[in-house]
Amino acid sequence: MRWQRTLTKPVEIRGTGLHSGRDVALVLHPAPENHGIVFHRSDLGSVYIPAHVRYVSKERSTLSTVLFDGQATVQTIEHLMSALNGLYIDNLVAEINGAELPILDGSSRPLVVAVSEGGIVEQKKEQKFYRVVRFEEFVSGDKYLSAEPSDRFEVDYEIDFGPGLLQRYRFTLSESSYESEIARAKTFCFESDIHKMRAMGLARGGSLSNALVMGKNALLNPDQQTYADEFVRHKILDFLGDVRLLDRPVVGRFVVRRGGHAFHTECLRSLWEKGSLALSTPKAASSDRERSAVSGEKLLPLGQ
Ligand SMILES: [Zn+2]
Repeated sequence: MRWQRTLTKPVEIRGTGLHSGRDVALVLHPAPENHGIVFHRSDLGSVYIPAHVRYVSKERSTLSTVLFDGQATVQTIEHLMSALNGLYIDNLVAEINGAELPILDGSSRPLVVAVSEGGIVEQKKEQKFYRVVRFEEFVSGDKYLSAEPSDRFEVDYEIDFGPGLLQRYRFTLSESSYESEIARAKTFCFESDIHKMRAMGLARGGSLSNALVMGKNALLNPDQQTYADEFVRHKILDFLGDVRLLDRPVVGRFVVRRGGHAFHTECLRSLWEKGSLALSTPKAASSDRERSAVSGEKLLPLGQ
């Protein structure tokens, strides 16, 4: 069994939106049991948008994941959602005084640090998961995703951007694996796309310090790189954020090839609507927690 978790106190993070280029303040507030994760557009008064796949705007979610409730949007939510998934945070209000979350250093590491500094507390209600109950697969052009039952969250992800840029990574979520394998992986783009994105009014806050930029044959900013296979690890970071857009975490084994935000969220929505996800208390997640409790390990190692 796993207890629900929230923060012990609010934490504030300031930064610039990747696409809007606007400076914003993001404040993460604790929330009670069964509240879930909800965005609050404080610049618009009391506009609250739940972090749920039913609010994902398919048209707007090409280069980032965008929620839209019919009136207001919240853009580029995926890195925060990924950090919350990786740190097992279930209840939280993410207050933002603008339309787009800050990109920070292009990874979710600053969010992990902020959440950890805010402190994490266990609550009094059990957290149930959604378990994938049957094999499903989705194909859209060259994109592919399959889901099948597992007691853990596992993903086998592959990207293929041509010669030298075929990367594959297999990841299993546990109490420590998110921070050690995924959180530092930065977002990336291709130099050849920057002009196009700027012309579309996107990537205005992008820079060589918050995205890995691939030139013709090599990275323009290799000093910013943490992993040789960082692009695919970042795709897993994004996928972990997109898959957390239900009212509880998901366990299952996923295989993804050449995915993107719109495809990830469409597949997730389809799994949810078709009843391929069922409420469950996964054995593996509970045994992880029991082991941590027995050994007295700190659940969230800090200061890495
Ligand atoms: Zn990303």
